Amino acid sequence: MAGRHYDTEELQLIATLRDRGFSIPAVARELGRTPSGIQGALRARRWVNPARSKLMSSVSIFSPQQRDAFREFVCSRAAGHTSTDIRDAWNQEAAMKQWPTVNNERVFYYLRAYGLQKTKSEYMRFESYRRRQSLAQQTRRANEQAARLRILRIRRAELYAREADLARRKCHVCRETWPLTDEFFRHSGRGGKYFLKTCKNCYRSVSGTAVERRKQRMEAYDRYVMVKQISLAKADRDAFLHRHRNFPTRRCSRCHETWELLLKRFPKYKVPGGRELYRRTCRFCLRTDSRLKERAKLEWDRIQTAMRDPETDARKAVEQGNQVPFSVQQWTS
Ligand SMILES: [Zn+2]
Ligand SMILES: [Zn+2]
Repeated sequence: MAGRHYDTEELQLIATLRDRGFSIPAVARELGRTPSGIQGALRARRWVNPARSKLMSSVSIFSPQQRDAFREFVCSRAAGHTSTDIRDAWNQEAAMKQWPTVNNERVFYYLRAYGLQKTKSEYMRFESYRRRQSLAQQTRRANEQAARLRILRIRRAELYAREADLARRKCHVCRETWPLTDEFFRHSGRGGKYFLKTCKNCYRSVSGTAVERRKQRMEAYDRYVMVKQISLAKADRDAFLHRHRNFPTRRCSRCHETWELLLKRFPKYKVPGGRELYRRTCRFCLRTDSRLKERAKLEWDRIQTAMRDPETDARKAVEQGNQVPFSVQQWTS
């Protein structure tokens, strides 16, 4: 719906004029609006059909008392709820009192009018908002997945019709048999000689969710560290020790790998008296530690945000005060 919001007087006027048989362009002229704006306003309130003009006068226009109550309702909930939450809560109460129901846009109007509207990132913190978003995303994914499957089955039938003894494989996940070709199966990692046991369609959906993708990224990074950084360091070390036969070394207390006793392998710490000693744990292990801690913290923040509910924050703070401090280490494994 385009343009400015319509206030109660204007809506009443629209209702009256439409009742008297004014056309939409005529109503638009009366109100100094565009016909499409009027049309949008009517549609937003489901007043499109003039036969439903009863709905028009009885449902959506607030009495002054109702308007005050609605304003109060919106303002008192603005901090902890999305506009959709507020709309649903109001409509639930309104249904019992036989008061006018509202749409999202009307809630928005009041939030804007009182400077209480939120940015998208603020909305993201609301559990209800994220739940709706993720539900919508899941539905979309499921539909896409079903559509892909339909296409693949048609394609399979075509291929079998053309070439009856085409090699086939049963996918481990969906248990369907597909032609054993590039179109239906990926190749395994290195060399790429063999086909995977999971069909492409299932492979894609497994790597589908955001949580899953994040996990895969972390694992990929860990593999990179293991394979690239550490093996490079080992080659480096071997060459160095070959040249400096009696150079001091230290065995890391964590990974039990022996490294050159150098600052690039072991950081130092100060002991009382000002002397500096090498640590017992190598930099690779320390870095892994801090990476895991950082991930655990992110995960913890995410859970905290998901649980946040301003109305119960005070209560939670009191409860948490009585609890043993939460150990972040629990989340690292
Ligand atoms: Zn499959
Ligand atoms: Zn180590």
